[in-house]
Amino acid sequence: MSHRNLEKSKDSGSESERDARILKQGRKLFIREFEKQLNQLQSLQESFQTEPVREKLQQCYRIAHTVKGSAPVFGYVRIGKLAEDLVRTWEWTQNLDGQSNEPLLATNPVQESIERTVGLLHELQMELDIGVTEIQMDEQQDTAGVSMLRSLKSRILLVDDDDALRSYLTRRLQLDDCVVDEAADVESAKRLLREHTYDLVTLDLMMHPQSGYELFEFLKEDPTLKWLPLIVLSGRDDLSDKVRCFHLGADDYVTKPFQYEELAARIYGLLKRTKNFEQLAFRDPLTGVFNRRYFDLQIGLELQRIERYPAPISLVFIDIDSFKKVNDTYGHHVGDLVLQGLAHLLQVNLRSTDLLARFGGEEFVIALPNTTVDQGLGIMQDILEKVRQNPVAQNEGQTFSITFSAGVAEWQVGMMIPEWVDKADDAMYQAKQQGKNRIVRADLEDEGAQFTKLVAHAHAQLHKKKLLIVDDDAILRAILISQLEHLPISITQASDGEQAWNVLNEQAFDACILDGVLPRLDGFTLLEKIKSDSDSRLKDLKVLMLSGKKKESDVAKGIQLGADDYMTKPFSLVELEARMKALMKLE
Ligand code: GH3
Ligand code: MG
Ligand code: MG
Repeated sequence: MSHRNLEKSKDSGSESERDARILKQGRKLFIREFEKQLNQLQSLQESFQTEPVREKLQQCYRIAHTVKGSAPVFGYVRIGKLAEDLVRTWEWTQNLDGQSNEPLLATNPVQESIERTVGLLHELQMELDIGVTEIQMDEQQDTAGVSMLRSLKSRILLVDDDDALRSYLTRRLQLDDCVVDEAADVESAKRLLREHTYDLVTLDLMMHPQSGYELFEFLKEDPTLKWLPLIVLSGRDDLSDKVRCFHLGADDYVTKPFQYEELAARIYGLLKRTKNFEQLAFRDPLTGVFNRRYFDLQIGLELQRIERYPAPISLVFIDIDSFKKVNDTYGHHVGDLVLQGLAHLLQVNLRSTDLLARFGGEEFVIALPNTTVDQGLGIMQDILEKVRQNPVAQNEGQTFSITFSAGVAEWQVGMMIPEWVDKADDAMYQAKQQGKNRIVRADLEDEGAQFTKLVAHAHAQLHKKKLLIVDDDAILRAILISQLEHLPISITQASDGEQAWNVLNEQAFDACILDGVLPRLDGFTLLEKIKSDSDSRLKDLKVLMLSGKKKESDVAKGIQLGADDYMTKPFSLVELEARMKALMKLE
């Protein structure tokens, strides 16, 4: 680009910046003005209730007219529309000129217009609220802690048939960095709940044609939605409604009208608590990284993906050098700080797709997708260099440095997970033997050895029955796998219906545990597909439906569609194991 052009583009850049600044300034002034106008309209409206005189009605018309004209100029389309509605409401007063200014009689359309005005002013008030908030946020930009909710970046479903309230809440929540979906009735709420994963739902009770209570039923029956945080937003401040909602599993009950700030604070509290539960199940409490349970679960899914879309993947096994000495010299507390420091350093130096977990005491594992053993070696060498150069912990003014030893092993076709972990662990052990503070790569097996192993593996697999577990609840999958993994079977898992269907079409399974309600392709539809498929591979597949749907009609539907067994949640793990053994003809 020539110098001249550069100058020019810089000019036009600052010009558009200036335009934006002017517009922003204009919007601010408009909102300030609009606030005054709205106050005037409010007090006029109050005066109508007692004395609807012509002059004041016409004044109301004129203010609305002004707002209607100015709002769209500054991009406030909704305010413009509402003002337009208000103009139309009071249009008829324009024909009253010359008449006396006595209070108008009930024969006039006064009453109707007043009622309409009350509603419109209420909506305009909400728009003002949004406008003011936007400006405040703009002014406070970059100052942290504007709203606690912002830090959570949650996805929320609003179920309410009041369009104005929904639209208001949506935009307020969006300003707090939430992703928001709206449903105006129970049916669309159900559809959205099947399609997406939400962090929280707000539910109105009085809706048509189905009431909010019907959504409770739906949520309660679905194990994946049963614990979804739910806040009832209701116009009814009725004790029996409240009690009923809490019995049905609501987490909170807020009556309309409410202050947005209070609702946001309640949402924040609820989300925070829920996140804590997830933290308990899948995170290591000391370091905050994933725990071994999560690692086992996730690595299984990762390998299944690779079977479908082949790509290299490597595993790193890390063990801190002479860690015992840290504990012995400085105390367990300092040892803990060192573990936290290393976990943090590892985490910030990895990609978001890498999976870091604490494997045990002072050992960590990392799965590196799309990474060969040599690339993995490079990545770890860089990280080790950082660990050597930066203290990982501080205590009472003293800093602590450590080193670690690590082994890297690339996954090869036919390899089982424990074998893979052992290989990385062995390489780590070699690093210790060679003097610690280094990374060792596990040798790739040559083709001959790999082939021999593959044959042995295939042979063993041939005699092992295969089970597919389909459930979108990761915790439930983990529970099922830990109950069944001692059986002489190989277990594959899928987290949604579509994934399950793909897996079923690629490999033969003897049995399948199928959740009733699943994202993407629900369990009953999948069952129907399986049982009506002419593929011989699926002909002998035994299906155990594991569903939260207790209703007899659902059990009947499942059986009619060809389920070989049916269990409802909650269930006994012992009974499930017994039934699986019978279905798979084990022992
Ligand atoms: P090497 O270099 O051969 O790995 O020696 P090491 O001292 O690191 O290994 P060793 O296995 O002998 O000791 C590991 C120590 O880690 C022993 C145990 O007390 C300590 N440890 C395990 N978990 C924790 C923990 O959560 N906090 C603290 N502070 N120490 C832990
Ligand atoms: Mg150790
Ligand atoms: Mg160690």
